Amino acid sequence: MLMRNIAIYGKGGIGKSTTTQNIVAGLVEMGRKVMVVGCDSKADSTRLLLGGLHQKNVLDTLRREEDLNLEDLCKQGWGKTLCVESGGPEPGVGCVGRGILTSIGLLEQLGAYEEEIQLDYTFYDGLGNVVCGGFFMPIREGKAQEVYVVTSGEIMAMYATNNICRGIEKYARIGTVRLGGLICNSRNVDREEELIDALAEELGTQRIYSIPRHNIVQQAEFYRQTVIEYADDCEQAEHYRNLAKTIDRNKNFVVPKPMSNQQLEKLLMKFELFR
Ligand code: ADP
Ligand code: MG
Repeated sequence: MLMRNIAIYGKGGIGKSTTTQNIVAGLVEMGRKVMVVGCDSKADSTRLLLGGLHQKNVLDTLRREEDLNLEDLCKQGWGKTLCVESGGPEPGVGCVGRGILTSIGLLEQLGAYEEEIQLDYTFYDGLGNVVCGGFFMPIREGKAQEVYVVTSGEIMAMYATNNICRGIEKYARIGTVRLGGLICNSRNVDREEELIDALAEELGTQRIYSIPRHNIVQQAEFYRQTVIEYADDCEQAEHYRNLAKTIDRNKNFVVPKPMSNQQLEKLLMKFELFR
């Protein structure tokens, strides 16, 4: 099987890192070999899999040390996952996207993607809202071919999703990257699933799954674990497993059709949420 390279987008705080790591735990239970590359300068994309923050992110280590070795940068986490944090660029100087590409380049040099490791998946997490072109580097440079956007029925999350699709569309038209779907990470908005379904339809994609909002996510986070590790027989864990299975089987890959802001406003009005 060819390795699938997946990028997870979504506005800040929407639940990208939590959802990604739980998807990864679900895939691990299915016997998949997975690497997670954190692309957020917060370097917290792998905390739940590692049982704490990664101590050596790529860019910091690159700045400070002469000899770099893969074992330091690529830590083994829960279920034999491989965990990497790109880290941040020099504040006020570097570009986020450049930093991510530098990290990926270094990982390639050090052999993280070699065939003997036999990765089934690499996940790129931490690609936030569209604030600069840098956030699209992994898809622009063909590092990730498959994108999921984490969203909710909150208006700003839906706006961000549409903006992200503008970026994806640009690179999808000239390259191989495709949108695999929207992941609804519920904020308990009225008629949330209908809203995301309507958004997905306009964008030419699907709502691939809805993850309920539940306090057990924060409890597990407190203990630095995924929900699947922390409470493997709870309903929330089952939801993450189902999402992992759905992604594993997904065949629905599209070039998204972003909306104008006016169209998006119209879509929201159709729901007349607060009447
Ligand atoms: P991002 O990576 O997009 O910035 P995080 O994954 O760090 O967002 O999530 C932000 C916060 O939301 C975390 O404290 C996390 O525990 C919480 N969270 C995420 N998903 C859920 C959920 N389904 N139910 C409850 N809390 C959640
Ligand atoms: Mg994050």
